[in-house]
Amino acid sequence: MSNEYKSIHEFDFNLICEYFSGVERQGPGSPEVTLKALSFVDNLTNESRIADIGCGTGGQTMVLARHAPGQITGIDLFPTFIDLFNLNAGKLNLQDRVKGIVGSMDNLPFQNEELDLIWSEGAIYNIGFERGLNEWRKFLKTGGCIAVSEASWFTEERPSEIDEFWKDAYPEIDTIPNKVAQMQKAGYISVATFILPENCWTEHFYTPQIMAQEAFLKKYEGNKTAEEFIAGERHEALLYYRYKEYYGYVFYIGKKIK
Ligand code: SAH
Repeated sequence: MSNEYKSIHEFDFNLICEYFSGVERQGPGSPEVTLKALSFVDNLTNESRIADIGCGTGGQTMVLARHAPGQITGIDLFPTFIDLFNLNAGKLNLQDRVKGIVGSMDNLPFQNEELDLIWSEGAIYNIGFERGLNEWRKFLKTGGCIAVSEASWFTEERPSEIDEFWKDAYPEIDTIPNKVAQMQKAGYISVATFILPENCWTEHFYTPQIMAQEAFLKKYEGNKTAEEFIAGERHEALLYYRYKEYYGYVFYIGKKIK
């Protein structure tokens, strides 16, 4: 029975992976936003060590690499994403400075105080914002920075449909002041926070998925798992357009001061 479960689970996993391998990004964001967040990070040199955690296929990592000095390690749980990541780094001739490795964010392969910068766009939710900030801190040097984007509420109250959706999808979603307080409690000084503009969700995330969804449904015609998965993605996009005044992604940039 457990084998049966495993094979179904792995099938889902592969499907999701295949779907997201075909699009520009695996989460909301844009090159402009990556550069804006980077503008709050100081003290990087050619010797700097940077980690991009939950890097996916590396859209944002390559932007980072072209504008920041130092060595960058991208880490993601999905080997398919890492293969594409390393392919992308090679195409841009960045392979000497940018390497993708398979690994999990709850068991990172870094030494204590090895890193000058921890980057993570749309991925820390996988272990939770507070847990990620707390557990990753030891890998940063004093004076090192962390820059993560995270789903956040813009208002104290919101319609129940979107409230319930997020409480089910990611109960740790919270208001910006509460997230900043969590960052401070985890031992960082908050350097900057800013809301990602709408085009990070539309132009760079949901719009490229429209074509990918049609192709995917055609390929997996009659496959219930695939159909349900795409229906879920479409529902999520629809909720965004309906309720975007109430939530979005926020970049949080912090510094380890001691
Ligand atoms: N940073 C990318 C991808 C965001 S999607 C972008 O902005 O486009 C979230 C990523 O987290 C996915 O690539 C997923 O494979 C990865 N992920 C999920 N759980 C993980 C874990 N435990 N460790 C490392 N990566 C993980």
